[in-house]
Amino acid sequence: MQVTSYFEPCNLSTGDCKLRWVGLTSGKSNVGKRVGFMDARLNEKKFKLVGGSPSLDFVNSVGGWGVNREKKGSRNYSDTVLRDKLDSYADLVGWANHAGLLGEYERKQLLLLAEKKPKAAALVFKRGLRLRATIYRLFKSVIEDWRADQADLDYLNEELHVARGNERLTRVEKSFRWNWNRDAEALDHVLWPLALSAAELLASGDLSRLRQCGGEECGWLFLDTSRNRSRQWCDMKDCGNLAKVRRFRRRGQQLPT
Ligand SMILES: [Zn+2]
Repeated sequence: MQVTSYFEPCNLSTGDCKLRWVGLTSGKSNVGKRVGFMDARLNEKKFKLVGGSPSLDFVNSVGGWGVNREKKGSRNYSDTVLRDKLDSYADLVGWANHAGLLGEYERKQLLLLAEKKPKAAALVFKRGLRLRATIYRLFKSVIEDWRADQADLDYLNEELHVARGNERLTRVEKSFRWNWNRDAEALDHVLWPLALSAAELLASGDLSRLRQCGGEECGWLFLDTSRNRSRQWCDMKDCGNLAKVRRFRRRGQQLPT
């Protein structure tokens, strides 16, 4: 039995992109029989890219960061994920594509590979969540000026080592460029640009514009590139607006229309 596969197109009119991998049998009695599919739900509207760096946008792929009340006695990192927007490896790949870190070719290849190796894909997804929390705590240590945990630094270095090992210097016409190793067929390809982005930003030498949104149950991170360094919110339309509404309510005033 020969199995062929294709991707059903997204329904862009609804804004809800359902990428389906469909395997079809081509034997006489089984033509068109569906033998498997991967549903990579990707509602692009739920992912906002307001961090100013891929690693910060990755940290912001959660609804918010909350306080871990079970961590009594230890430092309060506020590193509990609230309303996670990433539920699976396919979500992670979808997010990376939305953030411009993976092209269409890579996205399709990774989803096909995940279909063949679901357990390995689940493990990479776990690594992704750990990497995200690690990056979050490292940046938070910069914002709040405390010494980062060595364990977090070690883990980022581990992922960075894998990423660097998959960089390839390639020739593009008359010049040379860094590319990712495309021959690897590696499910963790999705993590490489994230580890590199976080390390490069941390080592950039100037993190004075790094901020954390003060919105309730938000905690998103961003680079404040405003001229007078006055940005307080991840997005004026969300946390900024909510804060404005609360301010007016406290004063017993009506919001201006
Ligand atoms: Zn916010």
